[in-house]
Amino acid sequence: MKYDPASEIQDHQVFGEFGGVNPSITDSSTFTFMKPDTMKELFENEIEGCFLYSRHWNPSNKYLSEALAKLEDTESAQVTSSGISAIACTILQICKSGDEIISSRTIYGGTWALFKNILPKFGINVKFVDINNLSRVKSLINKNTKLIFCETISNPLLDVSDLPKLSMIAKSDNLKLVVDNTFSPMVISPYKLGADVVIHSLTKYINGASDCVAGCICASNEFINELTDINHGMTMLLGPVLDSFRSSSILKNLNTLHIRMKQHSMNAKYLAEKIDKMGYNVFYPGLKKHPQYNLITSFKNDGFGYSGMLGIDVGTLDQGEKILESMQKEKIGYLAVSLGYYKTLFSLPGSSTSSEIPEDEQNKMGLSKGIIRFSVGLDNDIGRTFNRIKKCLKNLK
Ligand SMILES: *Cc1c(COP(=O)(O)O)cnc(C)c1O
Repeated sequence: MKYDPASEIQDHQVFGEFGGVNPSITDSSTFTFMKPDTMKELFENEIEGCFLYSRHWNPSNKYLSEALAKLEDTESAQVTSSGISAIACTILQICKSGDEIISSRTIYGGTWALFKNILPKFGINVKFVDINNLSRVKSLINKNTKLIFCETISNPLLDVSDLPKLSMIAKSDNLKLVVDNTFSPMVISPYKLGADVVIHSLTKYINGASDCVAGCICASNEFINELTDINHGMTMLLGPVLDSFRSSSILKNLNTLHIRMKQHSMNAKYLAEKIDKMGYNVFYPGLKKHPQYNLITSFKNDGFGYSGMLGIDVGTLDQGEKILESMQKEKIGYLAVSLGYYKTLFSLPGSSTSSEIPEDEQNKMGLSKGIIRFSVGLDNDIGRTFNRIKKCLKNLK
């Protein structure tokens, strides 16, 4: 089941049209045909290596999609203009009015709002559940259920989903298991563990530069063909197409992902252990006391650690706000949402990225207002960073 995505990407050769080591960037929205009947044929069926219109496919998006399929070991993939559009298109491709979804309740706030506020407008009902309560998940399945949705490592509490077991449940009832793997590219390969569709917000680790918004859907040829179908495909017809200039720059960044993930993980583990020793409640799946430590250790890929996301409970919102401000002053990083940047980013999810989730739901999830979320950066000397964090925490005790 273990996979080495870094070697797969290493061996993935892309020759530019003039032999460039980086492929040329598609600078066309539309493509010429030498004969009208070829165009007719392309409208009816896909022709390998033949492009029609950039919202459907273009060479730059194809190159990035192919590399992302290598990352997740899926047959195929498609890039989109955001992570949230990748999620929305996937759901709408699988579900119709009257269908139901079972979703983890510890998910990204934007996804939560999409599920809670938008999908019901299309007659799609979402049941939120503690995703590791497998008997509860099973009990919610009925004849209208079409899919199970979760994040590999959940936002923001860093719970790990039991993907092999969820996949067994999904398969036995003919449901699709859709997994958002944004927090753990390379670290975990959900498709190898039985997921049917793997989604990323490329905005985060995969691009790693916090200079653009993008997403992707990795799945079987059959599902990607459905999404791009000219008459019925959600990415084709809702149209979240990624610009080819962005696509090309993300492809270049993907080639350093393995080095970055190692460093993010190493730094996060260091901070988790040190801050844990200071007596704080620390959320990090690479700590032995984390409830799913054994689970994630049993199925994560070798060599990329436990990812770079870390949560610390500092008690109250007020304390949290003071600490965030002083950490920015101490140049530990930036007070900002998002993740996967070179520098450390920190925020208070309870009042930011998870604020879409109402207070009583936040309580059910165990999301205290005083939890600071860190996306730990690529710091060369993490000991120096820790000393600064310690200073900020101590000053405010
Ligand atoms: C950011 C994020 C998304 C949404 O992606 P965008 O690229 O911002 O649209 C979805 N899921 C997770 C886990 C995220 O962190």
